[in-house]
Amino acid sequence: MSRVELDRVWKIYNGKVVAVEDLTFTIEEKEFLVVLGPSGGGKSSTLRMLAGLEEISRGEIRFDGKVVNHLGPAERNIALAFESYALYRHLTVYENIAFPLRVRGMKQKEVHEQVMQISEQLDLVHVLNRRPSSLAGGLQQRVSLARALIRQPNLTLLDEPISHMDQRVRAEMRAVIRHIHDTMGNTTVYVTHDQAEAIALADRIAIIKDGRLQQIGSLDDIWNRPANRFVASFVGEPQMNFIKAVIENSRSVLVPTPQGGYRFELYEEVDVKYVGAQVDMGIRPQEITLFRQKPEGNAIAGKVRVIEFAGESAVLTVDLDGEDSTKVKVVASGTDTFTQGETLWLYLAPGYIHLFDGDIPIHRGITDMD
Ligand code: ADP
Ligand code: MG
Repeated sequence: MSRVELDRVWKIYNGKVVAVEDLTFTIEEKEFLVVLGPSGGGKSSTLRMLAGLEEISRGEIRFDGKVVNHLGPAERNIALAFESYALYRHLTVYENIAFPLRVRGMKQKEVHEQVMQISEQLDLVHVLNRRPSSLAGGLQQRVSLARALIRQPNLTLLDEPISHMDQRVRAEMRAVIRHIHDTMGNTTVYVTHDQAEAIALADRIAIIKDGRLQQIGSLDDIWNRPANRFVASFVGEPQMNFIKAVIENSRSVLVPTPQGGYRFELYEEVDVKYVGAQVDMGIRPQEITLFRQKPEGNAIAGKVRVIEFAGESAVLTVDLDGEDSTKVKVVASGTDTFTQGETLWLYLAPGYIHLFDGDIPIHRGITDMD
C-alpha cells in the first residue's frame, strides 16, 4: 500500500455546489504528491473524500485497486492532519501524540519511545507536558502533525498542515515532513495553496482550480510545459511575465513598437494557422538575461523602474520599450549593480519563450530538460 486512484470523482454539496468535478489522477506508491491550487478550488474536499470523511458524489476512489468509497476513515489506515488542529483539549501534548498508538493497544515502553522520537523530530519535547490550548497556533499545528505522522500509516493526508507557523519554522517543518515521508516509505498527499511549498516538497504536483484538474506532473513538467496559462502564472515567484506579441511566421514573433518592433526567434515551430495572431509571450523572471549593450537578436530594451534586493538576488521591475510600456520583472544577480532609470537589454532565449493563444499554450519552449 498504497497506490491511490481517483476515477472521475465528483463532490457536489447539497445537490448544487460543485466542489470537485470529474477528477481523475493516480498517486503512485511511496509518492509525495502535492495538491496545489487557489482557495475554494476543491483541494480540501478532495482530501476529505480520500480520507473517508466526505461522501463521494460520483466516481470511484481505489486503494491498491480496491474500491474504498464505502469505507470509513478507520478502515482505510490513513493518517490525517488538517489546518485546524482538532487536538484533545483535556489531554497533554504527550497524550495527544500517544493517542493513536494507545488506541491500538501498543505497549507503554514502545509508545514512549515513539512519542519521544517524533517529538524530537518536530521539536516538541519542551511542550510535552503542556495542554494544547496553552500553545500558539503554529505549535498546536506541530502537535497535530506529530499525532498524524506517529501512526506510520500507509497513506498520510496533510491539509495545509503548517499554514499557521511562522516563516522560519515552516521551512524547517517542510524538511521534517519530507524526511519522515522518505524514511517511512509511505504515500503522502499534501494540500497547499502555496506554490513555494509545493516546489519544495513534491515528487509531483497536481494543480486544481474550480474543482478541475489543470495539470499533474513533475516540477519540470509544470515549470517548463504548463498545460495552460493559469498553471504558467500560478507556479513561480515572481510570476511569469506576459508580453503582447504578434506571430510573424512559424519561427518568430514580433513585439510591436511605433518604430517597428522587436523580433524574437522561437525554439520550435508554431502552427502556421497562428500567423498574424495576437498572442501573449510568457517569460519567467528567472529566465531573462540582462545586457547593457544590445545583444544579437531576441532582445528588447527597457528602463529599470524598481530595484528590490532579496539576499543573493535582486528583482527588477522594468518598463519595456513600446506604447503600452509593459512592466516586466527580472530576477538578477544581487552582486550586479543597477541604477533606477537606466536602460537595459532583456535577452529572451528561444527555449524559454512560452506563447499563449488565450489560455492555450502554442509554444512551450524547451521540450527536454537534461
Ligand atoms: P479548498 O480546500 O481548495 O479551498 P474546498 O474543498 O474547501 O476548497 O471548497 C471547494 C468549494 O466547495 C468551495 O466553493 C466551498 O465553498 C465549497 N464547500 C466546501 N465544503 C462545503 C460544505 N461542507 N458545504 C457546502 N459547500 C462546501
Ligand atoms: Mg482547503
